[in-house]
Amino acid sequence: MPFTTPFADRLNNVETSAIRELFKLLGKPGIISFAGGFPDSALFDVDGIREAVNAALTEEAGAALQYGATEGYQPLREQLAAFMASKGNQGVGANDLIVTTGSQQALDLLGKTLVSPGDKVIVEGPTFLATIQCFRLYGADLVTAPVDGDGVQTDALERLIVEHKPKFIYLIPTFGNPSGAMLSLERRKRVLELAVQHQVLVVEDDPYGDLYFGEAPPPSLLALSAQVPGSRDHLVHCGSLSKVLSPGLRVGWMVGPAELLAKATMCKQFSDAHTSTFAQATAAQYLKAGRMPATLAKVRAVYAERAAAMGDALRSDLGDAISFVQPQGGLFVWARLTGAGGKTADGGQLAKRAIDQGVAFVPGAPFYTNHPDHATLRLSFATVGVDRIREGVARLKAAL
Ligand code: PMP
Repeated sequence: MPFTTPFADRLNNVETSAIRELFKLLGKPGIISFAGGFPDSALFDVDGIREAVNAALTEEAGAALQYGATEGYQPLREQLAAFMASKGNQGVGANDLIVTTGSQQALDLLGKTLVSPGDKVIVEGPTFLATIQCFRLYGADLVTAPVDGDGVQTDALERLIVEHKPKFIYLIPTFGNPSGAMLSLERRKRVLELAVQHQVLVVEDDPYGDLYFGEAPPPSLLALSAQVPGSRDHLVHCGSLSKVLSPGLRVGWMVGPAELLAKATMCKQFSDAHTSTFAQATAAQYLKAGRMPATLAKVRAVYAERAAAMGDALRSDLGDAISFVQPQGGLFVWARLTGAGGKTADGGQLAKRAIDQGVAFVPGAPFYTNHPDHATLRLSFATVGVDRIREGVARLKAAL
């Protein structure tokens, strides 16, 4: 019997992701996958998390296994505030943030609390696919701001703000997914000035900021907001433990104006009541044990090595058929097929041929809200060892 109950109108705004079709092919034996957006599970600090679980069950089993406050488990909120402060985000108290079920839920809560059908929201082109889908589910009319190697172009952004009067602007300033781009310090300040000048809310999604390979990136918009009077009132910052510790914990957080956090908390209450107290108590114990700096040092070193290996292999094997900026952090190389030497400049076509050669990546076009650049590709180096990266790029060369 087919399912005959009509779905809600809001589902008309979204389609299942084009790249899901590709993911179905990844089960092929022997395939080297640059397609995922996952951190490497071999890097999870299992011993540290086991100790944190044990401590949570020994010291606070009642709270860790009980219902909890929607805003978040207070010891975790305190640890997260301290973690933020350690990264230069001063002045964020435990009660200035709410814990979310991954930062994905923060994005959903922003859609739920802020977006009415037809509202304009400015996003980067390209941007995180799940954000596009999530905001569209609430009827957002997405406007794309152009990005270059220094992140979003602030002159164009200002023009778009004036023209579209958006409800908010969504940015991934540090090692964006998929672009890997890092917003320059100068542009970060400009974004905050624009927020104040045009009284527009800016959302900083920052799941990758800790994953830098050399020098630390410029301070987050949140940290810089201390230097731009009034900007904090127009800023939301979303953080996550997913990429540095474990995405399975589903622990993220959102810092923002009190009125917004109150509404988001109300919506969260009707959705999942609260983020798993067990996961929150575990995360709090982990942070309290002081393990994070060593974990960060380890994951940064491994991803840095893999990013370098991928960059070297792409340069030597694919030469002028591909252009990209060597990533300084994050999980991705964002590349563009140049069409040089009569080779294909279509990422979607190449993705299919690459699967036949035993390597997978994600074509870049779905990451655009409109006017997709079909020549782009997203290659993740995160879960593949250095030798397999070289082999995967050799297969990519064969596909090309
Ligand atoms: N924002 C961006 C830019 C991401 O890439 C991701 C994960 N791929 C998320 C948010 C969501 O992460 P999580 O819900 O695991 O914190």
